Amino acid sequence: MTKILKTIEELQDFVRNIKKSGNSVGFVPTMGALHEGHLTLARTALKNCDACIVSIFVNPKQFAPHEDFDRYPRMMDKDTALLRTIGVDAVFAPDVETMYPIGYQTTVTVGEVSKPLEGEFRPTHFAGVATVVARLLLLVGADKAFFGEKDYQQLQVITQMATDLAIPTKIVGVPIVREESGLALSSRNAYLSGQEKKIADQLNVVLFAMADELKAGTDIAHIEKNAAQKLLDLGFDSIDYCTIRDAKTLMPPTAETKARRILAAVKLGKTRLIDNIAAN
Ligand code: AMP
Repeated sequence: MTKILKTIEELQDFVRNIKKSGNSVGFVPTMGALHEGHLTLARTALKNCDACIVSIFVNPKQFAPHEDFDRYPRMMDKDTALLRTIGVDAVFAPDVETMYPIGYQTTVTVGEVSKPLEGEFRPTHFAGVATVVARLLLLVGADKAFFGEKDYQQLQVITQMATDLAIPTKIVGVPIVREESGLALSSRNAYLSGQEKKIADQLNVVLFAMADELKAGTDIAHIEKNAAQKLLDLGFDSIDYCTIRDAKTLMPPTAETKARRILAAVKLGKTRLIDNIAAN
């Protein structure tokens, strides 16, 4: 039985009962419109913990005024039915007033790691994410919380925040779930027309080709320039970034870089897509 929890009191009673019997809690925060990527996070939580709570909350603070908050897909009944089929123990679906009660004043901002890439193109986004995730992590008090590598910089930002604020929940990253075409699953893929979808399918192909060129020793600036041109030729409308970075700092690689990551954000019609892959 999957319980639907709306209030903080219901959530905390539920968690208290699980913990009372010595069981561990896994937590998966989402904005709903669930797909196999989200379900993989929930299955990973169920595998690693005795109970799994998934939150569904479209967080207004992480959308800029010109972004897609109003049209973001909302499908609570379908989402809860899906979570029920995989045996999630509870869904926490708070109202905006529950997450941000009247008089709410605090914003959480994370430093360097939130500044490049997404931070440059969506300057208020990570403060919104860090604020809601901090509040959710503290409200739930889970043993582990699971985040997708799909939002790779977000995972680094949250890991940094949890370390800095000594939030006791362990942050666990989960690999990206992709369609057969290689397109990373995303709730925003629902915005794509048939023709746009065909173009979107090529984004990951370009990233994997960049990884091959990097392996072959091609100069980074050259790889990035070629990839950007390739994306435009394929039909993407604009490129916010398509770049090879230090996998931890997300800054350009240096002599100290241990692992690299290739990350891209592109626009296709009204849709903004992000993707990333590991690189050697
Ligand atoms: P969202 O509902 O978009 O805020 O995403 C909720 C969580 O699901 C985040 O931790 C995302 O990184 C993760 N997620 C979204 N898409 C995928 C995917 N294709 N593979 C793995 N995790 C994902």
